[in-house]
Amino acid sequence: MTADVVVVGGGIGGLATALALSRSGLRVRVLEQAPRFGEVGAGMQIAPNCTRILHEWGLLDEVKSLGVLPENIVMKDAVDAAVLTRLDLHDVERRYGFPYLVIHRSDLHGTLLRACERAGVELLTDVRVDSFGQVPGGAVAAGHFGRVVIAADGLHSTARRLFSDDEPVDSAYVAYRGAVPIEKVAELDVHLKDVVVYVGPACHLVQYPLRGGDMFNQVAVFRSPGAPDGLDAAFDGTCARVRAGLPLMWRDRWWRMYDREPLMNWVQGRIALTGDAAHPPLQYLAQGAVMAIEDAWVLASSYAGDWDAALAAYDAVRPEHCRRVLTTARAWGGFWHHDGEKRVWRNRTLRDRDVYDYTYIDWLFGPTALTPGQEPAMFPSGG
Ligand code: FAD
Repeated sequence: MTADVVVVGGGIGGLATALALSRSGLRVRVLEQAPRFGEVGAGMQIAPNCTRILHEWGLLDEVKSLGVLPENIVMKDAVDAAVLTRLDLHDVERRYGFPYLVIHRSDLHGTLLRACERAGVELLTDVRVDSFGQVPGGAVAAGHFGRVVIAADGLHSTARRLFSDDEPVDSAYVAYRGAVPIEKVAELDVHLKDVVVYVGPACHLVQYPLRGGDMFNQVAVFRSPGAPDGLDAAFDGTCARVRAGLPLMWRDRWWRMYDREPLMNWVQGRIALTGDAAHPPLQYLAQGAVMAIEDAWVLASSYAGDWDAALAAYDAVRPEHCRRVLTTARAWGGFWHHDGEKRVWRNRTLRDRDVYDYTYIDWLFGPTALTPGQEPAMFPSGG
C-alpha cells in the first residue's frame, strides 16, 4: 500500500499526527525505530487546550477514565511549605470548557495507539530513519514515500538537521521521577486531590495522584551541571514534607532537562517537523506533549486536498505560538528557583495574584493557542 503520509517517530506527537490525518481520510504509515511502541516515564499534565482536542477525537472519556481530574494546582514554597497561589481546576474547566487532567504517559500513548489501530494507521516498528529526501510529488524517509513526510522524531531529531545545525541546550537541571502505589504515601502529608508544586532554591518537587488515585507521582528537579547525583543534597534546605517524598523517587533513571532555541520554519518542500523535533520545551509549563497534539490538530485542520497550502498554513501558525511557550517556560523555571531576596519577591508576587485572574493563562489554555492570536500577557519572571 502506498501511504499518503509518512510519520517518522511513534511517540505521543507522531501518533497524534497519524491519528489526526487518518481521521481526514488519509492513509498514514508510522515508522518507529524501537522494537515496540511505548513510553518510558511517569505522569504528565494535560491542559484544556489539549483535552479540547482529545474530546474532538472521541478520546476524552477514555483518557479521563485512565487519569485523574485534580481539584487544584497548588504552588507552595519548598522551604517553609507556605501556600503561594493556586489554580482552581473546576473553575478552569468552566472557563475553557474542558478539563485539566493528569495521566500516566503510557496511558495517553496507549490511548492514541489504540485509536490509530482502529483508524487503520500502518504502524511499523524497528525502522530507524536516517535519510530524508524530496522527490516529485512528495518526500521519502528511509525509502518510504509519502505525499508528505512528518518528522516526529523527538528532541534528538534527525530531520531537524535539514532545518538547523543547532543542538539541544542543557539547562543544567536534572529530573528524577517516581510513580508508586498510593499506599506508599499513606503516612505522608500529601495532597491526594491536587497537583502540588513546591518551588525552592535551584530545585522543585511536583506531586500528584495518577490512575484514578491508585498511584502517586513525583518529579524532583534540581540544578546539577555535572554528574546527576546529589538528589538528597539538593533538597537539604527544603521542608520536611518535601524531603519525605524523596525516598520514593526512582534512583536508577533520571532525565537531563534540555530544550532548544526556537526554530521559526518547520516546513521544507514536503517535509515538516512536529512535536519535540520542532519545539522541545523545558517542562515548567507542562505543554510539551500538549503542543505536539495541537500541532497534529492544526495540520489536519489545514488540509483540504492541497498539501502545499496545508503545510504553509501550519508553518504560519505553530512556530510563533511554540516559540512563546519555549521562552516563557525558561523564564517561568527561573522564577520558580529563586533564592534570597528574589525568593521573597517571588512569593509576594504569587500571593498578590488573584486566584481567578487568568491574564497569564488564557494564551495557553484558550483556543488562541491554535491560531496566531494576539500578543499574550507574559508573567514577570524577575530574571
Ligand atoms: P518523543 O516522545 O521523543 O518521541 C519520539 C519518537 O520518535 C520516539 O518513539 C523515538 O523512538 C522515535 N524516533 C526518534 N528518532 C527516530 C528515527 N530516526 N527513526 C525512527 N524513529 C525515531 N509534556 C506535557 O504536555 N505535559 C507534562 O506534564 C510534561 N511533563 C514532562 C516532564 C518531564 C520530566 C519531561 C522530560 C517532559 C515532560 N513533557 C510534558 C514533555 C513531553 O514528554 C514531550 O514534549 C513529548 O513526549 C514529546 O513527544 P514527541 O512524540 O514529539 O517526542
